[in-house]
Amino acid sequence: MTKDGGALYDITSVPSPGLANRTFRVDVGFVVGGSSAVNGMIFQRGNAKDYDIWGELAGPNNTWSWSNLVGYFRKGVQLTPPKPEVPADFNLTYDMQYWGNNYTRHNIFATYPNNLAPGIFPMHQALKAIPGVNVAEDSGNGETGIAYWMTSTDPRTGARSYAKTGHWDGLNRPNYQLLPETRVNEIIFEGNVAVGVRITPRGANTSTIVTARKEVVLAAGAIHTPQILQLSGIGPADLLQRAKIPVKVDLPGVGSNFQDHSYTDVSFRCTPPFHPIICPPMY
Ligand SMILES: Cc1cc2nc3c(=O)[nH]c(=O)nc-3n(C[C@H](O)[C@H](O)[C@H](O)COP(=O)(O)OP(=O)(O)OC[C@H]3O[C@@H](n4cnc5c(N)ncnc54)[C@H](O)[C@@H]3O)c2cc1C
Repeated sequence: MTKDGGALYDITSVPSPGLANRTFRVDVGFVVGGSSAVNGMIFQRGNAKDYDIWGELAGPNNTWSWSNLVGYFRKGVQLTPPKPEVPADFNLTYDMQYWGNNYTRHNIFATYPNNLAPGIFPMHQALKAIPGVNVAEDSGNGETGIAYWMTSTDPRTGARSYAKTGHWDGLNRPNYQLLPETRVNEIIFEGNVAVGVRITPRGANTSTIVTARKEVVLAAGAIHTPQILQLSGIGPADLLQRAKIPVKVDLPGVGSNFQDHSYTDVSFRCTPPFHPIICPPMY
């Protein structure tokens, strides 16, 4: 079931004991491009330590640690620098070693906006003044702290730059198919090897098995990836047994430890005069 005209799954969290047992809407994009089609377009990277922890989990000789991933980030995301008129006192710094600068091919773009909102300059100054707050040279350099971020917009058109525009629209590759309105029900295994997936088109009564020549890559997001694993028999045995799913692998962590970020809106009134270049008179 979806809400908002079909673009979002309709998911409500279980009660959070640490938050007076309140429940929350959990937004996930239900559309080609997934949540990148509906998100706030704030372009941010995680911090290096988090990627390194992934790497540790993946084991020796893995390619998931920060130092390995940076090359892919550079390949996959093209940065549009801020306008040259942005004055130095704004401290809007960036470092191209963390970004690509190829604007000609299919890509995902991270773009500094033409104008920055009036409150940003004093807010940045104030945050910088807090002892212990790191000011990152670039929002994508893997440090924690404060930094300016970009939006995921195409600098040529101003339109949203996301998984569909970057990795599907206009591509014509015989080995790349997209099946919209089609649900993956489970992974098909031969022994311990994933050899395909069972899929059902929306509204259909029967499912189809698609087999893999090489491998199955599961990337259904933080909520549905573990769901598909559980439906395929990989997850906590007691839960699977209660759902009458034959247990292939008893893996208690699948479907647990979900983390999301908190979020709050801050409103403020700005009093002129604003920064003359960052906040031109139209603000
Ligand atoms: C409202 C909102 C605002 C956000 N704002 C920001 C922001 O400003 N900046 C930022 O960096 N991040 C933001 N995010 C988070 C960001 O969009 C996600 O972290 C990111 O898109 C996750 O990518 P993903 O590929 O892991 O999963 P997703 O983007 O969720 O993609 C998973 C895809 O798998 C599909 N799928 C799921 N189950 C199945 C199934 N059984 N069969 C077939 N397909 C399936 C889904 O429909 C979806 O298309 C926001 C997210 C939301 C929802």
